Amino acid sequence: MTSRPKARGCRAGSFQGALDTARVLSRSLGGPALTDANASLTPANLKLDRQIPLVVVDVDEVLAMFMRGFERFIGQHGWELRIERFALFQNIYRPGTDETISMVEGRRLFDAFFALERHDIDVAPGAQAALASLARQANIVILTNAPEAGRTPRMRWLMENAFPYEMLIGSGPKGALVAEMAALIDGPTAFVDDLLPNLDSVAVEAPEVHRFQMVADERLRLMAPTAPERHCRIDDWDELGVAIAARLGL
Ligand SMILES: [Mg+2]
Repeated sequence: MTSRPKARGCRAGSFQGALDTARVLSRSLGGPALTDANASLTPANLKLDRQIPLVVVDVDEVLAMFMRGFERFIGQHGWELRIERFALFQNIYRPGTDETISMVEGRRLFDAFFALERHDIDVAPGAQAALASLARQANIVILTNAPEAGRTPRMRWLMENAFPYEMLIGSGPKGALVAEMAALIDGPTAFVDDLLPNLDSVAVEAPEVHRFQMVADERLRLMAPTAPERHCRIDDWDELGVAIAARLGL
């Protein structure tokens, strides 16, 4: 079992939520349409219920096992992933050599991966059930920094994997967007991301927001920069769902 940094100030326990499947909930809620209408979605026109809490959640390495999917993709293009540091392109090698991919070629593959009609990315274990449970009493918004060209395939991936929630695409540190969303509701907000700069950005822009770091890929967990004294760190969705619910008073 992979160890993880001990989180301070986190309330974690075993997941006690209802066991109904996320797919059932997905059908009953319906979901945002896979249309260009999503492209104009902004915090101001999200369908938020201001009477209940808000959970803002990232996709890659939080809901989605991005690194594993991208690893399969680059393998088809003659490259291999060796996870030696918390980075992306610096971990991509020409097989059998010490040659790493150029930034230009790495970016090209990254964009090509996201532009594929179907994203071959596995769901992080436990993510569907945990979010479905939270969604009974909280607004859920997906906030991803995926490339704009990946908007429709990303929406499709979310819908097909029982994440029937509205999605915003951002770029750069996420604090400003999260602050804007948190201001639209009366209750508390939680934010979940794998990247420390995004968590720190939210701490600056919206310090009242409860912040949780989760790193889905077991290989990346020990390498991920972390600051449990500032942001609760829980890498297991069963525990994370319970901790978020407790923080939000659900
Ligand atoms: Mg991420």
